[in-house]
Amino acid sequence: MGRVYNFSAGPAVLPEEVLKEAAAEMLDYRGTGMSVMEMSHRSKAYEEIITTAEKDLRELMGIPDNYKVLFLQGGASQQFAMIPMNLMKNKKAAYIITGQWAKKAYQEAGLYGEAVAVASSADKTFSYIPDCSDLPIPEDADYVYICENNTIYGTKFWQLPNTKGKTLVADVSSCFLSEPVDVTKYGVIYGGVQKNIGPAGVVICIIREDLITEDVLPGTPTMLRYKTHADNGSMYNTPPAYGIYICGKVFQWLKKQGGLAAMKEYNEKKAKILYDFLDGSKLFKGTVQKKDRSLMNVPFVTGNEELDAKFVKEAKAAGFENLKGHRTVGGMRASIYNAMPIEGVEKLVAFMGEFEKQNA
Ligand SMILES: *Cc1c(COP(=O)(O)O)cnc(C)c1O
Repeated sequence: MGRVYNFSAGPAVLPEEVLKEAAAEMLDYRGTGMSVMEMSHRSKAYEEIITTAEKDLRELMGIPDNYKVLFLQGGASQQFAMIPMNLMKNKKAAYIITGQWAKKAYQEAGLYGEAVAVASSADKTFSYIPDCSDLPIPEDADYVYICENNTIYGTKFWQLPNTKGKTLVADVSSCFLSEPVDVTKYGVIYGGVQKNIGPAGVVICIIREDLITEDVLPGTPTMLRYKTHADNGSMYNTPPAYGIYICGKVFQWLKKQGGLAAMKEYNEKKAKILYDFLDGSKLFKGTVQKKDRSLMNVPFVTGNEELDAKFVKEAKAAGFENLKGHRTVGGMRASIYNAMPIEGVEKLVAFMGEFEKQNA
């Protein structure tokens, strides 16, 4: 059985080269006589793995020295709580609701303080990004929160909101390392890695140093304080060691591809193939306002549920996996992350064209 084209939204496709390398090192990591899974996280070999991973990530994203890089656990969902617990000094924050993940973060923040929804695209099933140039951001808001790429609905902030001087916090789970980023525009950038970087179980949090303080909400557990992890180089307790090792390999792979500018170019090329097809198709259509389209997650429908189901089934039989749309949206979704080769998208489009002819 060979490998399929895996269009899963997450956990998602990883570079084949990385998987092969990990396989080759599985039983004996570089002469240590053991797998990375079996070694102490305090060992010299592991220290080099995590230090190199951080160094490579800093290089890829151009992360300034006054930002910490934390490798955490608990999924992106745990950050929904950790962010207000650590950042809500005034117990108030502004949330822009562009989909389910933003909404969940907003609801979680409401457990700790006043979460103010300053904009939303719920009125049109989150198919667009609202105008965020002049939002009613409260004077005393501690931060403005966005989900930068909406995995389920396939929208992306191509322009960051005007936060009126407030700290910007962004969930970038599904667009992490897909394009160059100006880290200085954010207070916190974080994401679960299972969308575009590595195996589930690791969350990377890039946070400006002045936001890491002892002044957290009362009752904040030690493990949920950024300071705990920042003071201990992400090794306060046992980190998700094997996952970080795979992330490190993906960082090296990205550097070999030419870094994030090259990735963006490649991702644009891939997404264009699919969007151009959708725009020309009489059967399939994209569900997102064109200017807000994501390069990573591409939802589309035929307008007929039975035909959607038939398409997903036949696509699977032809080696295109996980094209079924999210349960709340229906239709189809092709997630075309960094590691999806361009041939995967070309072949998918050819298959869609064939399906269209047969079902016209
Ligand atoms: C998948 C996803 C999450 C949730 O991630 P978990 O690691 O399962 O908690 C949060 N935000 C976005 C944008 C996602 O795509």
